[in-house]
This record gives sequence, C-alpha cells and structure tokens, in this order.
Amino acid sequence: MIKVYNTLARRLEEFTPLAPPTVGMYVCGPTVYDDCHLGHARAMVAFDVIIRWLEYRGYTVRYVRNITDIDDKIIARAAERGVSCAELAERYIAEFHRDMAKLSLREPTVEPRATAHIGAMCALVTRLWEKGLAYESGGDVYYDVGAYRGYGALSGRDISELMAGARVEVNVRKRNPLDFVLWKAAKPGEPQWPSPWGPGRPGWHIECSAMSAAYLGAAFDIHGGGQDLIFPHHENEIAQSAGSTGSIPARYWLHNAHVTVDRTKMSKSLGNFFTLKEIYRRYDPAVVRFLLLGKHYRTPIDYSDTALAEAGAALRRIGGAVSRAGAALGVQMGDEAHCPAAFETAMDEDFNSTEAMGILFSLASGINVDCDGKKAGWKDRVARNASALIHCCRVLGIGYPKGEAVRVTDAAEELDRGEVERLIEASSIGAGQVERLLRARNALRKAREFALADRIRERLQQLGYDLRDERQAGSVVRKKGD
Ligand SMILES: [Zn+2]
Repeated sequence: MIKVYNTLARRLEEFTPLAPPTVGMYVCGPTVYDDCHLGHARAMVAFDVIIRWLEYRGYTVRYVRNITDIDDKIIARAAERGVSCAELAERYIAEFHRDMAKLSLREPTVEPRATAHIGAMCALVTRLWEKGLAYESGGDVYYDVGAYRGYGALSGRDISELMAGARVEVNVRKRNPLDFVLWKAAKPGEPQWPSPWGPGRPGWHIECSAMSAAYLGAAFDIHGGGQDLIFPHHENEIAQSAGSTGSIPARYWLHNAHVTVDRTKMSKSLGNFFTLKEIYRRYDPAVVRFLLLGKHYRTPIDYSDTALAEAGAALRRIGGAVSRAGAALGVQMGDEAHCPAAFETAMDEDFNSTEAMGILFSLASGINVDCDGKKAGWKDRVARNASALIHCCRVLGIGYPKGEAVRVTDAAEELDRGEVERLIEASSIGAGQVERLLRARNALRKAREFALADRIRERLQQLGYDLRDERQAGSVVRKKGD
C-alpha cells in the first residue's frame, strides 16, 4: 500500500487511483526562455522516482508534462534577442530535452505545448464566462475569485487571509487583487490568436487546466509540481477546473521542496545560480541524479561542492560493491524480482528515497564485509545482496558515472527478445539495463543472431557508451565523456 502526502488534505493518504492499473499524472513543465537550473532537475527527478515506484508496484503511469511556450518572459527575451517567440521557445525546448536526457528520466507519455492548445483554453474560458466566473476588463479577461467558493483549498488559507497577504496591486482593471488573467489582449507585435474577446494569448494558469483535461480527463490521480507552484498557480488551476466542472481535477496534489545553494536561496541576483550545463561541466549527471535522490522529495536539498563530492563518493561505493561481488562470484549476478522489504516499506511511505538509499548502503557494506571476512556461506550472501542492490539501483534509475565500466562475462542467459527490443527503443536506460543489453548481446552473438546484436551495439553507442569485447574480461562498456 503506497501512501502519499497530499498537499490538498495536508496529510499522508492511502494512494488509490481512479482506474487501476492506470495512473494519470500531470506535472507542470518548464517555461522555455532560458537554460534549466538545478531546481528544474530536482522537480523532474522527484516525479521520475514517483513514476518508477508506481511502475514497480504494477501501475502504468500516463504522464503528462506540459511546455509553456508562450508567456511574458518568452516575449521579453525574444524581443531582447531579436528572434521570434517560436524560435526562442524551440531552442530552449531542445536545450531542456538535452539537459534532462542526461538525468535518466522516464519520458512523458505526452508533452503538450501551450500554443498547440489555444482552442481548448478559449473553450474553458468561455465555460467560466458562462458560469459567471470570468469578466472582461480593458480587453483582458479575468477570473473572478470572489465568485468562486472554494478558493484557498489547496494552500489552506481563506480569501481574506490571502487578500491581506497579496501584494498591493496597481492593476486597476481587476475587481479583486486575487483575480488572475485568463486571456490577455494582444499588444502590437506580440504573438496572438483569435478568441471571442478579440485577438490575444492565454494566461499561464489556464494552460495547465486545459491541457490536463485534454489528456487526462476532468478527473485524474496526481497533479505535481514544485512547492512554489502551490500558490497561486495550482490554486488558480483548481479554481478554473473546479469552476468549470464542479470538482477538483486531481485527487492527490504532490509538491517537491526547493533547492538551496550553500544553504541560501538560489537566485540570479546572489550569483549562486547554477544551470545544469554548468554543473554537468564539473560533475557527472549520474552523480547529480544521485545527489537529488538522496533527499526525500519534500525535504529541501542543499547544493554545494561538498554535497556533490559526497554523492560521487557514495555512488562509487555502491558501484564498487557491485563490481567486487561480480569479481568474487566469477559469474554474472542475477536480478531479483523484488527489492528488499525494508526498501519497499521506505518507498511505499511517500517515496522516501532517503531511507531507501540507506538500505542500498547497508547492502553495499554487507557485500564488503563478506568479501573481506569470507565467513561460512559468504558467497550466497554476496550473491543475494548484490542482486538486490542491482535491482534497487535499476528501480531508482541509479546509473554508473562515466569512466566507470560495466562488465559482463560471457555466461549465457535466458534471452527475452521482447525485452531487448523494448530496451533498444527506450529513450533512456539505467545502468542495470545497460548490463542487461550487454548480456543479451553476448547471448545473441552465441546464437549467431548478429542483426539484433548489432542493433544493441549501435544503441549503446548512441547513448554514449564505448563498447569493447575483451577475451579475458568479457564485454565492457564505459560511458564516454561529453
Ligand atoms: Zn501548471
């Protein structure tokens, strides 16, 4: 039984999806006007771990992650650079995909772009208008927060409290400072689309309400994002969706905590703002992922050189124990069908990856103790611990840093061609799967099925692995440097 912390209920709740084994999940994606930073990576890894654990528990996740490709910041940046908004967005969508691919993330099932769903957004604004929840003012259309009863349900505050906290607005067009824009009238030279209120473009919040409904329906299971999105973005999404259909669209609202740098908030003005590209120049993406996994998604994470160095050392300790077990046993290790019970308990409790990682370290030290001491029954224990360790790493998407080799011996194993095909087609694969492909390739070569064996080699090369066949050590792949 999985328990999740639901921001809407402000407590842990049993996770029961609407239509198992499918889980519908919507996560707010990037606004594409600049390079991604560590905060983006944190959110993406947090929800990736959640998806992986749901998959481990037998669910199939329909994962929708949007791209905001029209917005004030995009318009301003495009004007600054003298390019069109579409060009700028296209460039940063490609950068986002490139940066994220290095973190071994599950790909979204659908990645809708705002500009491709303007019609659905207009239809939603029209419904709100018809229900008396929207008004026009100075050419823009606003949501009338005062006309919607449930406002504040997610952030746990009532309207008067929110009003007191709201910045004093200079926008005299609004009836109420909490009202937010649904549709903005076009200004000269800006991208625009026709609408019942004249040419313009959608507000930010309406985009997620329209696209989650388009791909997951009016009711789905999980809505996710960073804690900074709880108010006002997700509060406004709920007001729009529930204002239109009568009910809150997602049952569980999950939010990841932020990233600090050397214990202070990461911000451009403080000069402690790191893009992923800068970080990747100094640290292997596998280490960055490992650092992010080390903290439960609802705990703030502190980025520092020390933290990265520690994460790198810890990852090498795990990789070292696996290699040591392989060398000691002299055969390839199996892959357990299950993670240890304690690991499962940790992950079932709101995806507690911090505790789960603790179990990986005890498996690794168990392997080392047995390889050192060689006490009665040590080989069995090493085999058991190593296969559990490999399996858990595979489940969490823990990969080998580049430069560290994945080796497999020539020992043949059961060949599942369907799985091989799936792994070849997968957009990203973890270290455990690299190993699996390598073993499958050996088996295929023995069976003289060279065509499929060659496709494996090509795919591994595409993924940035160097592959060599060594007479003594079997096949070795090593992640190449960038
Ligand atoms: Zn959103």
